[in-house]
Amino acid sequence: MRIVFDILFPKFCVGCGRIGSYICSSCQNTIERIVDPICPVCEYYSFDGSTHDRCKNNYTIDGLMSFFRYKGVVQKAIKQIKYSFVSDMVLHLISLADVSTVFVSDAFLKDATVVPIPLHPFRQRFRGFNQAALIGKYLANSINLHYDESFLKRTQHSKPQVEMETKKQRLHNIQGIFEVTRCSRLPETVLLVDDVFTTGATMREAATALKRGGVKTVWGVTIAR
Ligand SMILES: [Zn+2]
Ligand SMILES: [Zn+2]
Repeated sequence: MRIVFDILFPKFCVGCGRIGSYICSSCQNTIERIVDPICPVCEYYSFDGSTHDRCKNNYTIDGLMSFFRYKGVVQKAIKQIKYSFVSDMVLHLISLADVSTVFVSDAFLKDATVVPIPLHPFRQRFRGFNQAALIGKYLANSINLHYDESFLKRTQHSKPQVEMETKKQRLHNIQGIFEVTRCSRLPETVLLVDDVFTTGATMREAATALKRGGVKTVWGVTIAR
């Protein structure tokens, strides 16, 4: 069955176009892993990706885990996920990330719930799906964690962050756009998932909303940075 499927819907490498897989083995060799974790608040080096004490208050994100550099074949793969529904590509990226070995502390992970950064309903209708949700579901599945997208919501329609020209505009554009709905089983620890960490503003804002809503610990997890 699989062979028939592969003949009818052949896979092409996003890097070089070669037929056979979404990222061929020679393009896989060009992927750069993140070896210099950063604090998600100041974006300077932090040895395990946790937020510096000096960068923390009660409502800040606690750390960031990203797997790959956002360039080359990874950048192409993520763009493909964003604009067409390629769930096999997500699986492929997550298996390459080798997530279970990256999560160092099992104690921290044990009761974590995976939550995707929500898309505004309008954009989700337009695009058909939320790539962060797709990534979150596969991630939760591969490391055996709960997945829940029910309590973090987007409240207003912000413009795409790329249209904002200055840092100030970007901040203003997303301030207060997330809210946590009343929920009887709000988790203590959340892994907040997105495809890419670029300016980080969206992720910090969503983490703050979760913490104001009562979540104790929030770590960001992204495929790339
Ligand atoms: Zn290739
Ligand atoms: Zn910092």
